[in-house]
Amino acid sequence: MVAPLWLAPKERLQDLIDALRQRQYTVVAPVVDQAAIVYDEIDHIDRLPRGWIDSQAAGHYRLQPTSRDRWFDFVVGPDSWKKYLFPARCVLSTAKPLPDGWQFESAADDSPAYAFLGARACELAAIQVQDRVFLEGPWIDQIYQHRRSRAFIVAVNCTRSGENCFCVSMRTGPACHSGYDLALTETDEGFVVDIGSERGGDLIASLRLPEAPLEKCTAARLSQERAAMQQSKQMATGDLPNLLMTNLEHPRWKDVGDRCLSCTNCTMVCPTCFCCSVDDVTDLNTGAVERQRQWDSCFHEEFSNLNGRPVRNETRSRYRQWLTHKLATWHDQFDTSGCVGCGRCIAWCPVGIDITAEVAALREAPVRCPA
Ligand code: SF4
Ligand code: SF4
Repeated sequence: MVAPLWLAPKERLQDLIDALRQRQYTVVAPVVDQAAIVYDEIDHIDRLPRGWIDSQAAGHYRLQPTSRDRWFDFVVGPDSWKKYLFPARCVLSTAKPLPDGWQFESAADDSPAYAFLGARACELAAIQVQDRVFLEGPWIDQIYQHRRSRAFIVAVNCTRSGENCFCVSMRTGPACHSGYDLALTETDEGFVVDIGSERGGDLIASLRLPEAPLEKCTAARLSQERAAMQQSKQMATGDLPNLLMTNLEHPRWKDVGDRCLSCTNCTMVCPTCFCCSVDDVTDLNTGAVERQRQWDSCFHEEFSNLNGRPVRNETRSRYRQWLTHKLATWHDQFDTSGCVGCGRCIAWCPVGIDITAEVAALREAPVRCPA
């Protein structure tokens, strides 16, 4: 038997936000800030980017108003939920000097329980990729685990694809299939709501929504299928790890290395990238030390330091490292691709380097040089 879907008039999204807040969640959702859609804490539907749409291309992102009264017609912007689950900067531990030695303590993570409102299918896939990295290997990241275990996810099915989206070819979207508590599909009349977990069901029961009629459910499904058909960008993934690892000396790496600025933008906006560095920072007044972790990037020359020297001292080799890790050796490490097809790295690359075009160029003229 197919589980029923529920219909919420658009303004009732406020009741959903209120219900989450009553359950002590801090609600985070898309908002407009500095001409981009980013994620921020909200308590009212007025802050959602109602009536805004994004135009994207390689190295291009612009917001523009639309005449359609849509609340989620944009796709992904520079932020991802990573910034809440794997914070850009945090304290791992502290060391305080005592008269007879040192007192070491792990730092407590005092983050609230987050409710993510508006997570897209590719973003659910990215969270599942980071789950593998931080929770499912031999070492568990306590900060990620603490935040992830309490997060409530209200997903939104995409009913429009952006110019940089290629989630269809990565099999991660545009419809959400798992990893959410609730999933909304926006229609002209309201949101069709799908329940994905017991706590999602409890929350919807408290809102006393009517069951969605069949024609609304069909309209919601068709709008997701339309979004899938809009995608022209794609990445051919067949035998991709082997293609990359047997083309490590391909001339294309020099070509892309000549264009790449090593600015790190692609890794900062990528929802799955997790490079980080750790510094011990001493308070000169007290002598106390904080061990701080911050996002870092494999595009930094010093990130590959071994015995005090970088082993990837050319941009060419750093781009190659990023791409081959994401699309090839990530499979060996985590049994999944490191790319979910969100297109952020394409939009936010200042010189418009397109990961799908780089893979296509290697595919077009492989030179097959052994690793
Ligand atoms: S590599 Fe680019 S397209 Fe793939 S997940 Fe990262 S940002 Fe998105
Ligand atoms: S590929 Fe683009 S975004 Fe990434 S480091 Fe190079 S110039 Fe920056």
